[in-house]
Amino acid sequence: MINTNSWFKVVILTLLCTLSAISSAKQPLVQIFTKEPQQGSMIVGRMLIDGQVIFQGKPLVLTETGEFVFGVGREFEGDAVLTIVSNSEKTKYPITIKQRKWNIERVDGLPKEKVNPRSKETLTRIKKEAQRVASARTVWSEQNSFLMAFILPANGRISGVYGSQRILNGEPKRPHFGLDIANKTGTPVVAPADGVITLVEPDLFYSGGTIIIDHGFGINSTYIHLNSVDVTAGQSVKQGEVIGTIGATGRATGPHLDWRLNWKGVRLDPQLLILD
Ligand SMILES: [Zn+2]
Repeated sequence: MINTNSWFKVVILTLLCTLSAISSAKQPLVQIFTKEPQQGSMIVGRMLIDGQVIFQGKPLVLTETGEFVFGVGREFEGDAVLTIVSNSEKTKYPITIKQRKWNIERVDGLPKEKVNPRSKETLTRIKKEAQRVASARTVWSEQNSFLMAFILPANGRISGVYGSQRILNGEPKRPHFGLDIANKTGTPVVAPADGVITLVEPDLFYSGGTIIIDHGFGINSTYIHLNSVDVTAGQSVKQGEVIGTIGATGRATGPHLDWRLNWKGVRLDPQLLILD
């Protein structure tokens, strides 16, 4: 009896070992740190093997420790599919992207010229300013600040969220891409993570006092409607360091900070960085 029993145990053990060998042969290739990736998510992961990770046809640059970052915008649909290339073998790694529902946000009482600018001078100004902002967002650096746990850049009441469909003075406009934090003019705005200042503008047409911080690997954050801008382009900032103050400059109905997050040209939801 004892013999049969131990023979039986050996069989079970062998079976278990074989099963675990099979599952360990299928080692995970990447690890995704972002919980519940959704439309507007900055997605951070790490390669667990030597190789390349490709997203939308382009390799993602890896940090020295193998991390990578990319983002999916408001309109992203389906899975975000990574292609892992290792030893000339390609493996697809799909990441489920949760679809979201968007608010409708009505803003009334804006000056006409700020909603539908008509003068040639203003239109030229808007175009030039948009180019300056876009070029600040193409800055590439290999600092790891995007890996930090971000903090809120200002205290206040959340008065607007990412993705809302906007109706300005009754006219449907582009969605809102920032997180609005309302507070008194002069309330300090701090860097939510380390970075390097890539744009400082005291008064842009739409966004008023504007600052952009590069956090590395294509991730940058923007602060608009500022009353004061207290940094200079090229300056390094640490998390928690004051960069400016809340205001109502540009197209704003009251004092608030509009905080934005980009991966290169893709507009992301900054609020998702500070949910947990
Ligand atoms: Zn806003």
